[in-house]
Amino acid sequence: MRRHRRAKIVATVGPASSSPEMLKALLLAGVDTFRLNFSHGTQSDHARVHAEIRKLEQEVGRPIGILMDLQGPKIRVGTLRDGKITVAAGETIRFVLSGSDGDKSAIPLPHREIFAAVAPGHDLLIDDGRVRVRVAGLGDDFIEAKVIVGGTISNHKGVNLPGTVLDLSPLTTKDRLDLEFGLKLGVDWVALSFVQKPSDIIEARGLVGDRAGLMAKIEKPAALERIDDIIQLCDAIMVARGDLGVEIPDEDVPGRQKELVRACRLAVKPVIVATQMLDSMVAAPTPTRAEVSDVATAIYDGADAVMLSAESATGRYPREAVEMMDRIIRSTEQHKMYRSIVEATQPGEEQTPPHAVATAAADLASVIHAAAIVAYTSSGTTAARVARKRPSLPILAITPSREVSRRLCLLWGAHSVLSDDVGSYEEMVERATALAHAEQFASSRDLLVVVAGIPFGQAGSTNNLRVVSLP
Ligand code: PGA
Ligand code: MN
Repeated sequence: MRRHRRAKIVATVGPASSSPEMLKALLLAGVDTFRLNFSHGTQSDHARVHAEIRKLEQEVGRPIGILMDLQGPKIRVGTLRDGKITVAAGETIRFVLSGSDGDKSAIPLPHREIFAAVAPGHDLLIDDGRVRVRVAGLGDDFIEAKVIVGGTISNHKGVNLPGTVLDLSPLTTKDRLDLEFGLKLGVDWVALSFVQKPSDIIEARGLVGDRAGLMAKIEKPAALERIDDIIQLCDAIMVARGDLGVEIPDEDVPGRQKELVRACRLAVKPVIVATQMLDSMVAAPTPTRAEVSDVATAIYDGADAVMLSAESATGRYPREAVEMMDRIIRSTEQHKMYRSIVEATQPGEEQTPPHAVATAAADLASVIHAAAIVAYTSSGTTAARVARKRPSLPILAITPSREVSRRLCLLWGAHSVLSDDVGSYEEMVERATALAHAEQFASSRDLLVVVAGIPFGQAGSTNNLRVVSLP
């Protein structure tokens, strides 16, 4: 179960992958963190998968991450009289807050917040942006819009409003119920969909507390405008390219991806690049060259993790998709240009003692050709600070917290091991040596660099460095 790569793989579980056999196959093929997508499936489906993953964790003796992804305030059109309508460019159509006609002059849009927040000139994108209309006029309970790009609008299709900041909580009633359910199960991460502003994170943090890591999915232009504050407030980021590519021009997504990965590396927060990475593998056993290149690009950007969505949730080739991702990551990380590219995008150093110590650990380990860096980490931050340097040698992250060992399944380069707290410095050195041996990171006469915060158990203080030579 030792991975021969640094970046992590997240796979979404769905009908194609929820059987115990398939979950195990995906784990063995390379999945580090499983994503439970609460936009689909019932709570009991997710509970069963959660229990199955925890069983696998026992069986293989390695921590496995579980990420619950909340649906969030996804806006949808209501029910149309004929199930669908077709609109043409230039036509004027009308949306209504409520009403039962359900034709072009009364398309139900049962979300009051929209009527309060839109203004003439704002665009509504329907069905993943296939239909685009522009607001021409409005009242309290109706919106008149001109069709810019025509097409078919059918029942319950999603609506995106890229230019409008909606007065919406990022957590709907369903999300709140799902959240409580997931936290009781014991998920490791909670992902918030359609985050718009820093206060969304604060609101969610109030409910989640420290029971799980909080991840912000970046899929709205409003979130991009406040990105630094959002990154500071949450524990990780997902570059949710599906909705992001609807809300901003497609051609802007790659640059935004680079910015977001860079900002997260600077802030020492894990970042996942997600959506359509190997999309053609939903239906075919092999990806396109362009998809392979997309995964490799995320790795060259220095992302902590890459994600499979429909490929593993509903596709025909879930295992092949994980194997493919594993192969692409390994090949990319072994390429002779990888190091120079990742180092060139290394964010500037932060001049605080914990960062400087972590950086020194990584530099020292490489200068003396150590076999591994051993990071003692009670909250995960010491390991994350070391990983931030993207060092070329393994990071063995030792933690007394089961929750932290699971959350580290998202962090670049970290091989996390659960181990009781150490009481003394000598014990720390002994434990590091024993675990490096046991996990096959080092053998006789190898050197290890041990980095820790002392006193032990005090989160966030990376202040100690030690070179250990194995007997
Ligand atoms: P979703 O999020 O799959 O929940 O929509 C990811 C994305 O939008 O890319
Ligand atoms: Mn999304």
